[in-house]
Amino acid sequence: MARYVFITGGVVSSLGKGLASAALGALLQARGFTVRLRKLDPYLNVDPGTMSPFEHGEVFVTDDGAETDLDLGHYERFTGVPARATDSISAGRIYMNVLEKERRGDYLGRTIQVIPHVTDEIKAFLRIGEDETDFMLCEIGGTVGDIEGLPFFEAIRQFAHERPRHACIFVHVTLLPFIAASGELKTKPTQHSVKELRAIGIAPDVLLCRSEHPIPDKEREKIALFCNVRPDAVIPAYDLTSIYAAPLAYHRAGFDRAVLDAFAIAPAPRPDLRRWEDVIDRLEHAEGEVRVAVVGKYTGLDDAYKSIAEALTHGGIANRVRVRAEWIDAEIFEREDPAPWLEGFHAILVPGGFGERGTEGKIKAAAFARLRAVPYLGICLGMQMAVIELARDCAGLADAGSEEFDVEAGRRRFTPVIYHLKEWVQGNRRVERRPTDAKGGTMRLGAYSALLAPGSRAAAAYGAGEVEERHRHRYEVDIRYRDRLEACGMVFSGMSPDGRLPEIVELRDHPWFVGVQFHPELKSKPLAPHPLFAAFVRAAVEASRLV
Ligand code: GLN
Repeated sequence: MARYVFITGGVVSSLGKGLASAALGALLQARGFTVRLRKLDPYLNVDPGTMSPFEHGEVFVTDDGAETDLDLGHYERFTGVPARATDSISAGRIYMNVLEKERRGDYLGRTIQVIPHVTDEIKAFLRIGEDETDFMLCEIGGTVGDIEGLPFFEAIRQFAHERPRHACIFVHVTLLPFIAASGELKTKPTQHSVKELRAIGIAPDVLLCRSEHPIPDKEREKIALFCNVRPDAVIPAYDLTSIYAAPLAYHRAGFDRAVLDAFAIAPAPRPDLRRWEDVIDRLEHAEGEVRVAVVGKYTGLDDAYKSIAEALTHGGIANRVRVRAEWIDAEIFEREDPAPWLEGFHAILVPGGFGERGTEGKIKAAAFARLRAVPYLGICLGMQMAVIELARDCAGLADAGSEEFDVEAGRRRFTPVIYHLKEWVQGNRRVERRPTDAKGGTMRLGAYSALLAPGSRAAAAYGAGEVEERHRHRYEVDIRYRDRLEACGMVFSGMSPDGRLPEIVELRDHPWFVGVQFHPELKSKPLAPHPLFAAFVRAAVEASRLV
């Protein structure tokens, strides 16, 4: 039976609860334990798949095809444990499950209430797979006191109450604001937020206190006294230069020690943190810098391309260089010549996206990379745009385009070299899409394998003949145009096992130009940089030597 760590937040949002949870997972692993991380989101959307990246950051896709919160990306990056559909849930999904049961008559006509029906549903979710791991780390989204969050707090209170002593602990992440005028750190908001937690029956075992200034011992003792927490379980969490410094920094601050103490695990196994020390060494002692232009659409919000930003950093870790990624709005290239914008970059990345806006600009970025021999990585939509560009410029299909934009425009304007696939094979299962499928239900989602062509750049990067990568898209490159594109120097270096779906394309006479239909960024980790990102950054390093 797993031990449970519940991670809650107080005072304000955006304190880095997800990062703290992920770092704790890594620290427990470094002590030889197995972990699984889970996110419970109090919002009422049923899943994050249809939420705008502007509002909610990127959608993180799991191997089993769930569209989840980007915090699951953090969890995977820090622990390497592949997230599953059952590691993320929203209040909307919980209520939907309860209401579906009610409609089916499962409750035999009884009155349906938050306690016990909604809380039971939450507790059942918490228990999934509990026999497979030593520790289950469950993060509750939002902050204590949010109306939507109440059923979740009540459920974890009950859950801990029903388990034996020392089987569940509560970590609360708070903020100590600094008042410049008086030069003081303020503990009152933390006291209030713990008071709020205790009012609903939860007494935190560990407090993780975010602060921009050093926390004097006197203040720590005061927090311990007023919040009824042991002084060595009041853990300072200062701002870090890199998120990957979190495991080492939190370890030095005593976080994992305090967690094990709260579980009464003694003696605690010693941690082996050498791999994290190596990551920090590579980040802090980078031998040079490369500049990568990311030409996309959702450029207003950092979190919209979270995994890509992280995967580029990992590519830098693999090559011992710093990667400076600069985000450029693709729409600019629809009005202006891309050359002055893109000259000076050592590589260009065009990420995934939906909808027509900005696509002509992405096509221009792909053309610039191809004709100027700049390393290029096209991800999903970025691959499709590279194919359209070559089809238009070389394969004699001046009106090449994607069916996606014709569907949106309601009329046919393009020769669809990218088309909507209606049925395909996943493993040994046939999958079909119908126009009546709910939004989000019509995509090719989750892990699919690809066979790599021997001798290709893709095969060289992976050092393997078959790979499995995560997908999230509706449209595909039409292989009926394969011959024409091959005549223009394109290599179809990764194909679905049935040979119908192009998974990777590359250009033969180019230093490094690769397009992938899947999302390699979702599987990249600091301790295991993704092979394509490592190879892409390597190509950027080589390009930087030529300049
Ligand atoms: N919009 C494209 C499709 O649905 C690409 C999706 C993506 O980049 N994730 O196929």
